[in-house]
Amino acid sequence: MSFLKEIEKRRTFGIISHPDAGKTTLTEKLLLFGGAIQEAGAVKSNKIKKGATSDFMEIERQRGISVATSVLAFIYKDKKINILDTPGHKDFAEDTFRTLTAVDSVIVVIDVAKGVEEQTEKLVEVCRMRNIPMIVFINKLDREGKDAFDLLDEVEQKLGLTVTPLSFPIGMGYDFKGIYNIWEKNINLFSGDSRKDIEDLIAFDDINSPELDKIVGNKAAEQLRENLELVYEVYPQFDREAYLNGQLQPVFFGSALNNFGVRELLDCFIDIAPSPRPKQSEERLVIPSENKFSGFVFKIHANMDPKHRDRLAFIKIVSGTFERNKPYLHVRHNKNLKFSSPNAFFAEKKEIVDISYAGDIVGLHDTGNFKIGDTLTEGEVLNFKGIPSFSPEHFRYINNADPMKSKQLEKGIDQLMDEGVAQLFTLELNGRKVIGTVGALQYEVIQYRLEHEYGAKCSYENFPVYKACWVEEPANPKDPEYLDFLRVKQKFLAKDKQGQLVFLADSPFSIEMNKQKYPNVKLHFTSEFN
Ligand code: GDP
Repeated sequence: MSFLKEIEKRRTFGIISHPDAGKTTLTEKLLLFGGAIQEAGAVKSNKIKKGATSDFMEIERQRGISVATSVLAFIYKDKKINILDTPGHKDFAEDTFRTLTAVDSVIVVIDVAKGVEEQTEKLVEVCRMRNIPMIVFINKLDREGKDAFDLLDEVEQKLGLTVTPLSFPIGMGYDFKGIYNIWEKNINLFSGDSRKDIEDLIAFDDINSPELDKIVGNKAAEQLRENLELVYEVYPQFDREAYLNGQLQPVFFGSALNNFGVRELLDCFIDIAPSPRPKQSEERLVIPSENKFSGFVFKIHANMDPKHRDRLAFIKIVSGTFERNKPYLHVRHNKNLKFSSPNAFFAEKKEIVDISYAGDIVGLHDTGNFKIGDTLTEGEVLNFKGIPSFSPEHFRYINNADPMKSKQLEKGIDQLMDEGVAQLFTLELNGRKVIGTVGALQYEVIQYRLEHEYGAKCSYENFPVYKACWVEEPANPKDPEYLDFLRVKQKFLAKDKQGQLVFLADSPFSIEMNKQKYPNVKLHFTSEFN
């Protein structure tokens, strides 16, 4: 019984945004509510600063920080909140995509002045495809920004969402007076004092009450009444089922920096956000309340200390409990493993724990057993779905620059790819290796880490590829059209690390031509399509 209660208490989510929208600031304020940290400034930004591309020390420093902030957990009103960190930098977008496989819901942060930005669009698209419940937080209301209705329109159009505001701003920028909380039916007045921890909430069941005019002034009161009328008219009523199914996204307004509107967001979040959700495996749907443990690796972090070469594999517990020193089946290796020091995360610390529950994340020390997507169970063979590779954006040949160290190079490439730093493609024609990445930054990270962790040297050579397309093998592998495709396109065919066939297209045009010439050969932009 208490086992089920523990699971029900958990809220595991990610905050996504374009860099600078306020993700770090919001995370920090949320932690303050949990009493998990004592002061502002305790959560370090994991941003790779602009211009840091060639600054390895900076990359290293940032990597160190991002281990610490990979999972931030705290208790708030008896709920166990797990925030999974998602790098905002676009070069690490794939990391973020993978982390999104481990969250049960997300909060999307949008800058009131900048509106919907590029990175937000990409990340929300991934969440939308997976029907992940989303709450939108429009941030920086203390600054001049776009009109609230225009923003709501923009969110709907650019992000393809159906929104319903659960709070509404009264004024903005210099005239920002506060927020009407539609969810709780009260008003929170803005004083611009982020240190106050007790907010002056004024209950307002009836916004037509003359009290409102006294508090915010006639003009603002009238404006709010008009706005709310429009809100009730235009937007659907909040419906929890629709939210949970990813069909309706509630919106909050506030200012993270001023700790304003954050409590409203958090209180509503713990009310409506889902506890751990079932997850589909290739074999069956796995329910969190099942007694038996199952979980999967969604992230691997290298230890940057050269004396301790072990890595930390992050496991999302899908069902049951994870216990220290209990043997679990590593499904891909068909091997039992025990973990004597599993890490759980609390605030900005990690500590060894005896038991963790479905919804939680545990960090396991690993010397090379794990790769992204691996499943651990109590014995059942399960392979969780939904951890696909996406087509990289950049492609380069990788060459060995020190012939004496070819073994080290192989091993280094192998392990870095398992960590998910980049993707490896081996050309069918000549066995040459091609590294695909989301951002150019990864090439430098790989080169640096190969040298410092594995003692190997590499160089790169451009390889003009537009996109990697995973090739679906037809029902009849001897299909003449398929065989013709394999023969004619041999130069552009490669295997990914899982041995799946990939067509490396050099232009959108070649993909189009391919479709026309070989209509039976199905190409996919992600590695998982069944
Ligand atoms: P992230 O890149 O999304 O993590 O963004 P940060 O949390 O680092 O915030 C980016 C910048 O915006 C920082 O300088 C913050 O101080 C500032 N910021 C965050 N929230 C607010 C806000 O509510 N109002 C104002 N004026 N600035 C904010």
